[in-house]
Amino acid sequence: MMRTREVARFVEANPKSHAQSQASKSWFQGVPFHWMLDWSTPFPIVAQEASGATLTSVDGHVFDDFCLGDTASMFGHSPQPLVEALTGQAGQGLSYMLPTSKGADVGDMLAAMFGLPQWQVTTTASEANRAVIRWCRGLTGRDKILIFNGCYHGAVDDVFVDLRDGEAVNRPSLIGQVQDLLPTTVAIEFNDVDALAAALRGGDIACVLAEPLMTNIGMVRDAPGFLETLRALCDETGTILVLDETHTISSGYGGHSNTHGPKPDIMVVGKSIGGGVPCAVYGFTDEIAKKMAALNQSRPPGHSGIGTTLSANALAISAMHAMLGQVITRDAYAHMLATADRLVSGLNAVIAAHQLDWHVSHVGARVEMICSAVPPRNGSEARAVMDHALESAIHLYLANRGILLAPFHNMMLVSPVTSPAQVDRLAFELNNALTELQAS
Ligand code: PMP
Repeated sequence: MMRTREVARFVEANPKSHAQSQASKSWFQGVPFHWMLDWSTPFPIVAQEASGATLTSVDGHVFDDFCLGDTASMFGHSPQPLVEALTGQAGQGLSYMLPTSKGADVGDMLAAMFGLPQWQVTTTASEANRAVIRWCRGLTGRDKILIFNGCYHGAVDDVFVDLRDGEAVNRPSLIGQVQDLLPTTVAIEFNDVDALAAALRGGDIACVLAEPLMTNIGMVRDAPGFLETLRALCDETGTILVLDETHTISSGYGGHSNTHGPKPDIMVVGKSIGGGVPCAVYGFTDEIAKKMAALNQSRPPGHSGIGTTLSANALAISAMHAMLGQVITRDAYAHMLATADRLVSGLNAVIAAHQLDWHVSHVGARVEMICSAVPPRNGSEARAVMDHALESAIHLYLANRGILLAPFHNMMLVSPVTSPAQVDRLAFELNNALTELQAS
């Protein structure tokens, strides 16, 4: 079997990664963070360094990186302006719990890029989503939130509700989940207008938290008009529309809502905004800001339950200043989108050459190869067409030939410094992998 042979090849070619990933007896299961075991490789590739769209391992292998830290580094690893900003900040203190003068610029840069006037900073996108859910419940006095089956918005308890055979269930894979989320989280299928209207017209949903297209269960595109209907139903029912653009910042300059519409009431952006330095942001309309100020003033003194000590620290602000000012630019997107189009053409040609009934879904710089002829319309359909064994075999084959894909599904990200040669090589090696798979 191809996978067995590729495992042997990987073990043989990566002795230092093997030794170093076993070296510490103090990390639980050998790694500082258990997700690092989720790759298709038999043990983790130990990274030496990364630069641009390339990552080098301790065994000296140079990888074309299409994972890019699962979006955190989607504008390239260590872009020069970020390096300079971090170096400059390093000697000036990193965290004071006070605003810095750069911070004023960053707020204005966020407003200019994403078209929302008011902003707050958190340390991760998970934390931003948790904060936003709290604000929405506080602002509306409603307990429930609505999410789409198969969504992922980070380590956010409230969103872990799935539909299984149409029934809402607490996500079965969670560790230590003791609260029943079903009374306060409504899950419906993406693109289901009737279910959406029925749920929102009950008038008891604080917010809809959604990606404008689903990117964490393969890729599920919004059906024509669905997002506009969502926007209209939220307006009609006084429900706050929160778009989590942590991933869909890849759709175009200003994120999906600015390039494709519609506009949310609150937007969350994380990961790449600091180029890999932990930080995230949420932005909102003046109307929401006014209500937030009133709510903040009317509550008794004490903890708000929103925010953590490191939020908006000086290092994070410096990182965002460099990224928003010099890296996340319209020119960067022009390159990303053109190179992603080239990748899509290459992948489509490979699929056609092998007469597979697969397809490629792509928006902006995010590309997903899906092992079905028909694009899934919702989380259930997307879950049903995932073939983890096949994906894992392809990912391992590619890793052995110096190409990294995100571990969770067939997602490929194109950065401003990803070269046409890198995407051509990905298509070439995928072609070889499929030739072998079909022969076996
Ligand atoms: N929102 C979306 C859409 C995500 O995909 C993720 C992570 N993949 C998050 C939020 C959470 O980001 P983080 O893990 O950096 O908190």
